[in-house]
This record gives sequence, structure tokens and C-alpha cells, in this order.
Amino acid sequence: MVDLPRNPTREVRIGTTTIGAGHDIAIQSMTATHTQDIDATVSQVNALAKAGADVVRIAVDSRKDADALAEIAKQTNANLSVDLQENYRLAEHVAPHVAKLRYNPGHLYHHEREKPWEEKVRYLVGIAEEHDCAMRVGVNCGSVDPEKKAKHDPADTVAPMLESALDHCEFLDSIGFTRYCVSLKDSDPKHVIDVNQRFAEARPDVPLHLGVTEAGMPPDGVIKTRIAFEQLISKGIGDTIRVSLTVPNDRKPEEIVAGRQILADIAAGRVRSFVDFGLDTLNIISCPSCSRVENEAFIDLAASVKEMTAYAKEHAITIAVMGCRVNGPGETDDADLGLWCGPNFVNLKRGPRELGAFSYEDILPRLKQELDTVIAERELSATPS
Ligand code: SF4
Repeated sequence: MVDLPRNPTREVRIGTTTIGAGHDIAIQSMTATHTQDIDATVSQVNALAKAGADVVRIAVDSRKDADALAEIAKQTNANLSVDLQENYRLAEHVAPHVAKLRYNPGHLYHHEREKPWEEKVRYLVGIAEEHDCAMRVGVNCGSVDPEKKAKHDPADTVAPMLESALDHCEFLDSIGFTRYCVSLKDSDPKHVIDVNQRFAEARPDVPLHLGVTEAGMPPDGVIKTRIAFEQLISKGIGDTIRVSLTVPNDRKPEEIVAGRQILADIAAGRVRSFVDFGLDTLNIISCPSCSRVENEAFIDLAASVKEMTAYAKEHAITIAVMGCRVNGPGETDDADLGLWCGPNFVNLKRGPRELGAFSYEDILPRLKQELDTVIAERELSATPS
């Protein structure tokens, strides 16, 4: 076994699990069932817990989801975390049933725009303290605080994420709340490494939740995540992890198995060399799906995109396939070709240009046409004039 360093992070208790301060790195996952489908969600939570999940996150977008969560919590002993999206005020309805609240600083802007974010965070802290909840400040590359984005060069996606996380930490500390961890997720493992290293340098005391968002399908998704985790955990960075994989609901526990394997390999020194996973080759990113997916055909579509585009594998092109209309438009921003799914249609864009919505039958041929266009444009620009 390798004697791995660990950053001197604070101890943060999440239900029966404790992260930070040298505790074992906890493994998390998230349900992808519809939260209001109580039986399916309970069964997925329990399958994840059985596979060894220390914490299971559930997304809550509405009052009905919050009511369902109360029922779900009665039927499991798992440590539950809730993913608050735009509707942060749902916190008071869900906190009595969970061990942790996750909020995204970039999502606090959507409701009550006139209210300063500090006031909203102060409210969340009050709720967390009242209900014995830990908190995660979850910064995501696809939904960074717009004020922070405006201050930095658009090509520098890491700086606004970092600044947003550091500001929130400073504010939480200033009001005396320290029972929190931070996550800084991106779909590019290199960005994940960079932003987490920089954050850990500035705040070695704050526990970090590591993850590569929209890592995609196994095995590529596991490889991308492994690259980031190897580089960070071997330097003492990271107190809890999630491996985000695009897999059907009954295979969700694979996220836990993959996470445990990566941790075991790092601990045993079985690290792989830094793999060039895709900067010079085709890179397909796809979200791990969650309760916001409106058409289960998304999972098959992600697999079909991978299969159909295999002919372009030598081209440095990024294709993003997202499961919903909530985060899909933003999370496809950096891709050469982006798809995000609605109930009956799949939206497509090439670079920043939206090309329209196509049926699930028509999307693949149209995607191929656009992919051929991107390849032709690249070849033309590479030809010496
Ligand atoms: S893109 Fe949408 S469906 Fe996919 S994980 Fe994110 S919120 Fe869930």
C-alpha cells in the first residue's frame, strides 16, 4: 500500500458518515429515477447503499418531489443528500429528511433576483443548522455564477468557478458555519485537476467532493474520472468522490463499484500513466442522468451517438449529449456539437448555433450530417493556402 498524503481538512459529518480530517474517502452516488416514483427511487437508493454508497443524493425540483422525498426517507437507512436546484426555498421542506443539502452558487440567481446571494445562503445555513444537515457548495462548469463569468476571459472557465467557490467559503465562515464541503466539477478531467488543485492550495482546510461531471458511459467515463482522481488523491486532495456514469437505472450501482476500484488502485499504487483520453481524438461527454430526464430514450441515444460517430474517432471533436432541458443548453456550451433531450425531441447545436429540435428517429442522421460538416471545416482550415 502507498502511504498517501491527506490534506488537513475539517471534519464534516453527514448522517452516519464523516468526511475530512483523515477519515476514509467516502463514496457517493445519485439517483436517476423520477423522485416522485417513490418505489423506484427507494429501490435505487437501497441498491446504491447495498453497493457501498456512503451518501446517496436525490434531486428535488418541486414541492411534489419534496413530499416524495419525505416518503423515500422513511423507507431507507441510507444517508441522503438533496440536490437543490433553482428552487432553493424547498430546503425547508426537505432538510428534515436528509443529512446534507447541496446548493449550486450558479443556481441561486434564478429566483428572487433582487435578493443578494448572501441572504439566500444565510437562509440555507439556518435550515441546515436547524435540521442537523451538512452542506455542499457544488460549483459546476455548466452553470457558473453569471457575475463571476462576466469578470473573466470567456476562455478561462476555471477562474470563475474557483472564485465562486472561494467567495461562498468565505461567506459561510464569516457567519460561523463550517460544516460544509465544496465540489468543483467539469467534464474535462484536466480542468477538474486544475481547479481542485488551485482550490486546495487556497483552502486546504475545506473538504473536497471530487467528480468529473458528464463523464459519459463506461469504460470511457471511468477512465476520465480515474485520470482526475489519480492526480488529485495522490496529492492528498479529496475527501469524498462520485463517479458519474451514463448507465441505465438498474446499473447505477456501477458508479460505486468503479469509485471503490479507483480508490483501491490509487491506495495500492496501481495508477495508470496520464492517458491522453481525447484531446486529439473524438471526445463524447454525456450526463449521468438524474430525475430530470424526461425521456428514458436518452440512455440509448447516448450509446447510439457513440456507435454512430465511431468513424470520426481520429478527429479532435467534442460531442455532448445531455439528458434534460434544464441543464442541457448550458452544459453543451463548450462542445463542438451539443444535444439535449426533451420529452419528444432532441435539441441540437453546432458550436453556439442552435440548429433546432429533431425527433428521436431523425436526430442521428442529422448529427452525422453536422459531424461531417465539422470534419470538413477542420480539414479545410488545416489545408495550407
Ligand atoms: S443534464 Fe439534466 S438530466 Fe443530465 S444529470 Fe444534469 S440535470 Fe440531470
